[in-house]
Amino acid sequence: MTNQNHVVIFSGPPGAGKGTQADILIKNLGYAHFSTGDELRAHVAQGTELGLQAKVIMDAGQLVSDDIVIAMVREKIQAFAGQSLILDGFPRTVAQAEALGGLLSELDMPLKGVLLFEVPESVVVPRILARGQGRADDNEETARKRYQVYVEQGRLLVEYYGAAVNKIDGVGTIEEVASRVNAALGL
Ligand code: AMP
Repeated sequence: MTNQNHVVIFSGPPGAGKGTQADILIKNLGYAHFSTGDELRAHVAQGTELGLQAKVIMDAGQLVSDDIVIAMVREKIQAFAGQSLILDGFPRTVAQAEALGGLLSELDMPLKGVLLFEVPESVVVPRILARGQGRADDNEETARKRYQVYVEQGRLLVEYYGAAVNKIDGVGTIEEVASRVNAALGL
């Protein structure tokens, strides 16, 4: 199973260290990485029609519509066939999870696991503010809002994916969290 190309879902509040852990898997194991948040920000930066629609919603820390996000993933995911893939920040709703199930069977890619990075709000909010990347949604109110939205999504993923979900304690050093990720993926 480990040698077969597969998909791993990464989910966690902003500032939980998902990006750092994804980078380790990319570097060490050749995973590809697709983040719907990054893709949406690229659309916003390029001023595409999709970006214009998404910007207001993203700035408010709310979820972009399923139609937009699913179409975006459908368009991009083909490019990753032939590689194992970390899907970062997708799916976030039941409709997205159902659409992903269809896409993965079309691509004949098994879902290896769903990693839920858990970090308390009191830890992530200061991290986001300290990160200060100049993102329009990096302010305290939006950070708290995104955390709450995330908590609901996490619950939903647990309900939808059941035993495939692995909760990862995201508090600790990068190495500590990386070894929890490896254990969860059987690496
Ligand atoms: P992220 O970088 O994953 O925290 O995403 C930043 C923002 O992009 C989120 O707060 C949402 O507004 C939007 N977004 C990213 N991924 C999704 C998704 N799967 N469904 C809906 N909205 C999304």
